[in-house]
Amino acid sequence: MDDIKNKYLSELSDELKELGEPAFRSKQVFKWLHEKNVKSIDEMSDISKSLREKLKEKYDFCTLNVVRVSESKIDSTKKFLFETHDGNYIESVWMQYKHGNSVCISSQIGCRMGCRFCASTLDGLVRSLTAAEMLEQIYEITRITGERVSNVVVMGMGEPMDNYDNLIRFVKLLTCEEGLNISARNVTVSTCGIVPKIREFANEGLPVTLALSLHAPNDEKRKALMPIANSFTIKECLEACDYYFEKTKRRVSFEYSLVSGVNDNDEEAEELSKLLKGHNGHVNLIPVNPIKERDYKRSDKSRIYAFQNRLEKNGINVTIRREMGRDIDGACGQLRRKHTEESAGVSK
Ligand code: SAH
Repeated sequence: MDDIKNKYLSELSDELKELGEPAFRSKQVFKWLHEKNVKSIDEMSDISKSLREKLKEKYDFCTLNVVRVSESKIDSTKKFLFETHDGNYIESVWMQYKHGNSVCISSQIGCRMGCRFCASTLDGLVRSLTAAEMLEQIYEITRITGERVSNVVVMGMGEPMDNYDNLIRFVKLLTCEEGLNISARNVTVSTCGIVPKIREFANEGLPVTLALSLHAPNDEKRKALMPIANSFTIKECLEACDYYFEKTKRRVSFEYSLVSGVNDNDEEAEELSKLLKGHNGHVNLIPVNPIKERDYKRSDKSRIYAFQNRLEKNGINVTIRREMGRDIDGACGQLRRKHTEESAGVSK
């Protein structure tokens, strides 16, 4: 059975028509699902009981079980660990900024990209999430916090471009007028650099912000951190990003996690500046969040600022990512991993 929250309004209309329902009814149902975020079909109070029963027979209705909520003591960040219907765990983060509330969602359970510094990928990929499961992370957080979400970043667990069709469905449902109606400009999708998918994404006509996880100034160093670099060169990635800018007029964000002694010295800052000169985008420096399974250390503050200064001097737009929820296992996949290990009795 397909999930009712996976359906576009047009699909729902066609399917409800087959059940003998007028077109306006599907809009009513759709709004209950995506604008009012009901937790069950029975909460659709102006829909007849007989139609509600038919919907329950015909469709699945995705819900996520809240397993754990960690609240940061440093800022107001909250991290949610959810359980899916098939007993898997995913995590999402809620962040409050001056300009609005932001939710970071997972797109897959685990990940198969194998980036060396990332906790999400240590046990590989379990499965991709459906559009409904991606949406439900935001809907459930909205229900719990009682606050409106204005920004969504697909930067949690998983590689969104490895779950392309569901990603597109998710973005379209999230940004549609009858749903949460979040502006596509306020949605960011981060990828490790699956080049053909970046190009396909550019052709979708969705003005979403794209982030490319770069993390190194040349292919050799990138290969040591990210296996995907064996499939696509940095040059190919940057050409795809240029194409993305050309099509969407959205500046690309280049993510660069600083790892002490690995990619953070002055020569590397120079090399990165040369690499990015003339490309429309800006660099987002992220001090790496060390995971216990790997020996990577974060660069110290003075090194981070020195790296930033070099880029700035070379005319590259650069910001240091404000770290949110560092005290609550803020980086991808860390909370899920901790939970599974604790459940299995593995000590930290
Ligand atoms: N798979 C996608 C999105 C998920 S990760 C991607 O690769 O972009 C979101 C960002 O956090 C990526 O730039 C990723 O490389 C980075 N990241 C993952 N683990 C990290 C860690 N431990 N410390 C710092 N950044 C990390």
